[in-house]
Parts: sequence; C-alpha cells; structure tokens
Amino acid sequence: MNRAQMLLLDVLYPNRCDCCDSRIPYDRLLCDACTDLLMQQRISYADWANAHPETPWQQGTVLFSYADAARTGVLAMKDGRRGFCRFSAKLLAESIAETMDISCVTWVPVTAKRRRQRGYAHAEYLAHCIAEELGLPARGGFLTEHAGNVRQHDLPAEERRKYAERFRGTGADLSGMHILLTDDILTTGATLRRCTALLLEMGAERVDIAAVCAGVHKAD
Ligand SMILES: [Zn+2]
Repeated sequence: MNRAQMLLLDVLYPNRCDCCDSRIPYDRLLCDACTDLLMQQRISYADWANAHPETPWQQGTVLFSYADAARTGVLAMKDGRRGFCRFSAKLLAESIAETMDISCVTWVPVTAKRRRQRGYAHAEYLAHCIAEELGLPARGGFLTEHAGNVRQHDLPAEERRKYAERFRGTGADLSGMHILLTDDILTTGATLRRCTALLLEMGAERVDIAAVCAGVHKAD
C-alpha cells in the first residue's frame, strides 16, 4: 500500500489509540500521552517473582503493572484491537532478544468455543507479534483448554489452581525445545505454571514466559 492509499484509509477509518481512543496518525500504535503513561507503569519481572513461590519456567518477562493505561490496553486487546498488543510485543521482544536460542513462541490457549465466539484469541495474536519481532516461528497445537465459563480473575488462589487443570497437553513431541510461552496477564501464575508444566512433560527442555502485564503495584 502506498502513502496516498494509507492517508485515504486514515480518513475513512481513523486510527485510534487503544488506551484512550484519541485519533492518532495511521502509522502509530498508541498516542504519545498513553505511551508516556505506560512507561511510568513499567515493572520488572523480579517485582512479581519476589512475591511468588518458585516457578517451573526459567525466565520471565513482563512490561506493565495491570492498572490504568495498561489495563485499558489489555481490555482493547481482548476486544480484538491490535495497537496496544503490537506495541507491547515490540517491547517484550526487545527485552527477550538477549535470551536467544528460543525454538518457537506459543501461547496460553482458549477453548475452541470461545475462539469462535470472539473470532480472535488475543494471546495467540500476541505470540505471533512477538515471534515476528524476534524472527522466530509461532506454533500452536501444544496445549488445549477444555470448556467452562468461569472467569478466572474472579476466583481466589486455590480455585485458580483447580481452574488451571482445565488446560491439557496435546501429546506433541517437544523434545529438546526451548519454548517461549505468552499470555496477557500474570496474576497468581496458576495458568502459566500449569501450561509450563505441561510443555515440560511433553519434553520441552526449557520454558520461558512473557506477559504484557503483571498483577503487582509499582512502588512510588
Ligand atoms: Zn492514548
């Protein structure tokens, strides 16, 4: 598409910031104000890891505390909007780039029914964006989620662990693979613990995780 066509598209279908809905140029992912706000919400993975028990994955990467602009961005991502997702994928890829030798990027799955209803699985799109940034393959088909309509974020910790058991491995042979597993939010880690354990059971040599947000509050 050439520049004139892009400009015409921008008039017909204005590009908007996922975090505040203001109009932005067609070649931008988010507005400047929201980008600044997000940078103030940056956290390190250690902020989360220090407050949680040891994990089955080796290395974790997270970007933002789950609040304010980042929370709005994640909700937009769940709605099928892509600016915040692509913005986050670029930042995650920059942080992960030092940890090369990853075989492929995969994602926490949703049930086939939910994917049909939404026509879109946001963790899958995130995984594809990160994979593209890193020049790696994105591969699904390792994990499945079995039916149920409970919203995990409403559940206390013990029930979250039980909820996570709805994830199953497909029996794929992951021998010797180093897998990067992605999801939108890292809260108690129950889902990512379960999915990591399944990947390791299927032979993966190493699993790292990347999440856009983590449920910790940035100290001021
Ligand atoms: Zn904005």
